[in-house]
Amino acid sequence: MGEFAGRSGSVPVVAIVGGGASGTLTAAHLLLRGRGPGVSPRVILIDQYGRHGLGQAYATTDSHHLLNVCATRMSALEGDPDHLLRWVRAQGQDVTGADYIPRRLYGRYLRAVLAEARRAWPAGHLTQLTGTVTSLREPGQGRPIRLTLSDGGRLDADAVVLATGNRPPAALRGVPAGPRCVPDPWVPDALTGICDGSPVLVAGTGLTMVDIAITVTRTHPGSVVFAVSRHGLLPRTHRPLPPPPADVRLPAHVQNLAGLMRALRVAVKDNGGEWQGVVDALRPHVPRLWGGLSTEDKRRFLDLVARYWEIHRHRIPPATASRIAHLRATGRLRVLRGRVGSAVADRDGVTVAIDAEAGTRELRVGWLVNGTGPASDVAGVPFLDELFTNGTARPDPLRLGLDADAAGAVLDAAGRPHERIFTLGPTLRGLRYETTAIPEIRAQAAALASRLDRMLTPGNRWPDTSVA
Ligand SMILES: Cc1cc2nc3c(=O)[nH]c(=O)nc-3n(C[C@H](O)[C@H](O)[C@H](O)COP(=O)(O)OP(=O)(O)OC[C@H]3O[C@@H](n4cnc5c(N)ncnc54)[C@H](O)[C@@H]3O)c2cc1C
Repeated sequence: MGEFAGRSGSVPVVAIVGGGASGTLTAAHLLLRGRGPGVSPRVILIDQYGRHGLGQAYATTDSHHLLNVCATRMSALEGDPDHLLRWVRAQGQDVTGADYIPRRLYGRYLRAVLAEARRAWPAGHLTQLTGTVTSLREPGQGRPIRLTLSDGGRLDADAVVLATGNRPPAALRGVPAGPRCVPDPWVPDALTGICDGSPVLVAGTGLTMVDIAITVTRTHPGSVVFAVSRHGLLPRTHRPLPPPPADVRLPAHVQNLAGLMRALRVAVKDNGGEWQGVVDALRPHVPRLWGGLSTEDKRRFLDLVARYWEIHRHRIPPATASRIAHLRATGRLRVLRGRVGSAVADRDGVTVAIDAEAGTRELRVGWLVNGTGPASDVAGVPFLDELFTNGTARPDPLRLGLDADAAGAVLDAAGRPHERIFTLGPTLRGLRYETTAIPEIRAQAAALASRLDRMLTPGNRWPDTSVA
């Protein structure tokens, strides 16, 4: 890329690192609030894979990968709940708010939202850059923040949003890197090779596995997918007509995990055993409830409860569930309990040792895919590691993501909130827990855009300086 002059003249610049839903919605909300060229900040949206608007979740090209949240809740714009429905209908598609649309279509929608938001602005007001940000230096108030990219390019910004999304999966122990082992199914084209008709083993039985099973078995009608996890738990299914959120009243004094779990059981009982409405009703309160737990209780939740919460909270649409049920009934999806112990790959496939309660069994497959979901420790992402090493940021106490204040201002190594570096979405998982889905991301993006716009309006911001 070479030198990229992010800042020019006195127009402030916001650099957003990560072009997925979090970065895109922040950019769109910023542009839509804009006060006019020369006043409102310019936006540079940087994505390492050029997946602007799509990110990890919406870059899929398989139209059988559906959203797991119904259309009525997936508007990109805070305060306009019908925006997605209007857009889809304008594409000539007949959808209702209760439908689960393909994620690929939703990705097109996010791109359209961004394109629409930039339309009112002169060329160059929004720049979409493909590149990997490797470092960030914040020299102090009044001087620009400098971002460096992996190709040596540099750009300067007045504020930075870290929208880097989920961490890649942790490496599977005992599994060597090799062409037959896919370490991260979400990098572009990671799954292209595995649809060759040979059996596939997925480590993990969650939403990633569901995606992979659907793609592999559709592409090759005879192929078989094995899926292994410690408990063999699969995501639950949405009801065809989801019940409304229940009227859940949590006692004011619930401050520990045991109390919370008791209150949850009582709420389900009071709701006639109908748990879906209770889980949905609790969701908006999760960040507050999570914030009230001790770090020890949060760890206990992650160790003992999270796997059950996740399968009830992130449910799959009925159409996906019947596809999965059919695959299981016909033996094309086989769910095993255990864990991958080791794997030896050769040119034609991989032999995997699966450790289970009954002993170790060997399985010969064509491919082994790591579908265990985001790693549970934030370390190991080079850009973030660099921020931790130079003291610009620190991990949250659970090390699930970044430490930040309630408004998403990133905390430095000493715990001081940055005035010009922010984050949102999955990076806040340790602090908010429920922060990875569109309804939460949309609200955070709107609030952050409002803050950035206020902060960077001439007169409100620090004196302008030239690039050091
Ligand atoms: C398979 C799947 C299905 C989902 N389905 C739904 C759903 O139906 N409904 C719902 O509400 N939510 C859903 N979600 C959750 C949610 O919408 C996504 O997690 C959300 O899209 C997160 O967006 P993000 O931008 O924070 O992260 P990501 O999508 O991961 O985007 C981050 C981007 O940042 C880039 N990046 C990272 N580091 C750098 C760097 N150093 N330099 C440059 N670029 C960088 C990455 O390449 C990536 O493109 C789903 C998630 C997944 C994974």
